[in-house]
Amino acid sequence: MPSRGAIVMTTIIPKDHPRYESLIIRERLVDGFKAGIVCEEGLIAHGRGEAFDYLLGERTIEPAMTATRVAVAAMLAAKHPVISVNGNSAALVPDELVRLSEKIGAPLEVNLFHRTEDRVDKIIHHLETHGAKNVLGKKAEARIPGISHERAKVCKEGIYSADVVLVPLEDGDRCEALVNMNKKVIAIDLNPLSRTAQTASVTIVDNVARAIPNMIKLVDEMKTLPESELGHMRTSYDNKAMLEEVIRRIKML
Ligand code: ATP
Repeated sequence: MPSRGAIVMTTIIPKDHPRYESLIIRERLVDGFKAGIVCEEGLIAHGRGEAFDYLLGERTIEPAMTATRVAVAAMLAAKHPVISVNGNSAALVPDELVRLSEKIGAPLEVNLFHRTEDRVDKIIHHLETHGAKNVLGKKAEARIPGISHERAKVCKEGIYSADVVLVPLEDGDRCEALVNMNKKVIAIDLNPLSRTAQTASVTIVDNVARAIPNMIKLVDEMKTLPESELGHMRTSYDNKAMLEEVIRRIKML
């Protein structure tokens, strides 16, 4: 019997399938859905992401890698970085989220657009079975100003007081509201045209399943760089220009 919130892979994908990685990602989400971690809307959101991933060639393109480097430079310089975790990212990269959190010293906060206490509990438990300690999000006593309903809820010592927030798969309104709170918001979003992608401070147009492992590798490579170099990476970066470059590459297909 699977434990509460545990994901069990139920379908075997042949390794020689040309789109093996994409099918594995799809299965992880379906299994996450069966375990109560991913919600119905999360499956729909994934469909949109898959379409853009197809247009990007299902690989990390160079402008996305540039944004990933800038994101790591921002997280390394942050006083209080926080990693927001939703159902899809918890289902796709639980081990990697835990590792990134430990390497950067950034707590994980379960923060759900479609929040139910049951799903928050299941995701926290799921992350704990992957080695996470002190996952935030159960207590969500603060609110993001300008956002109504349950989706405004955040943890006071987590996202609410963070200076840099990494938000894999965020909704456009919340992303904008976090930017309006003067936070540096790093979004991971396969759609370069989404409001999230357009309003974030740094947008990584890549699949969460590739972007988080890339960030882990870059932390190791970049943590010994002098602050002057990291600072230059951050200040010389132009998110709008990077998004235009991604769109140009998609049009060239
Ligand atoms: P917005 O509110 O920002 O305009 P939206 O309403 O299109 O966005 P949502 O449904 O809130 O989007 O979130 C889904 C977003 O997540 C989509 O932009 C989709 O491309 C992206 N997405 C889905 N799966 C992944 C993934 N595995 N990695 C990265 N991005 C993803």
